[in-house]
Amino acid sequence: MTTLFISDLHLDASRPDITAQFLQFLDAEALGADALYILGDLFESWIGDDAADSGQCAAIAGLRSLTQRGVPCFVMHGNRDFLLGEQFCQRSGARLLADPVMLTLYGTDVLLMHGDALCTDDQAYQRLRATVRDTDWQRRFLGLSISQRRALAGAARDGSKAHIAATAYAITDVNADSVGTVLRESGAATLLHGHTHRPAVHSFNVDGRPCTRIVLGDWYTQGSVLRWNAQGYELCGLARTGGPE
Ligand code: MN
Repeated sequence: MTTLFISDLHLDASRPDITAQFLQFLDAEALGADALYILGDLFESWIGDDAADSGQCAAIAGLRSLTQRGVPCFVMHGNRDFLLGEQFCQRSGARLLADPVMLTLYGTDVLLMHGDALCTDDQAYQRLRATVRDTDWQRRFLGLSISQRRALAGAARDGSKAHIAATAYAITDVNADSVGTVLRESGAATLLHGHTHRPAVHSFNVDGRPCTRIVLGDWYTQGSVLRWNAQGYELCGLARTGGPE
């Protein structure tokens, strides 16, 4: 049996092919898994559990079908969908994970994160993150009408795109010292995260201890999954049926 990890699907009404691939993935490979972990940014935007659109509702129904058939599903907040809440959990059957959280996987301790908290060279982003993760800010935001929230989220996405385009590639990647710190503090030798959309397996030392950082890919042009079982792990792309891949 295998545990599956995905992240950064960025499901959105403008990209129905990703939603279709996700639903196929839930109905096929995920059904045979020990568990499914979604490490943030399942959705491109989430303005509250009361405001899901039809594509988001389809994804929730897919998750519900999976969890009802006995496959546990865990969802971590990303920087796009950090407002996923209790109602989402009740409707999907998924459980929310803290960020970071430690998981023991077939005998190996693995630290799971979305990854944005590690991008500490991007100080403007870290200030924004601190603001929107504040519970008072979230309460005020959720108190706005759905159309007001949608307008603010759209402006935030435009701002984020402009910021990433104007910021050096290295700045928007994880900071090596921050990676070292979380591995040192957790005691884990393996870190698994998404967010940067730079899928890879990195090997390095922290205080002379061999460590590994596994980065999940996004689902923009193909899927990305980490399969982990008792024999080890593999990071794989998932061709999109009917697409250019
Ligand atoms: Mn992200």
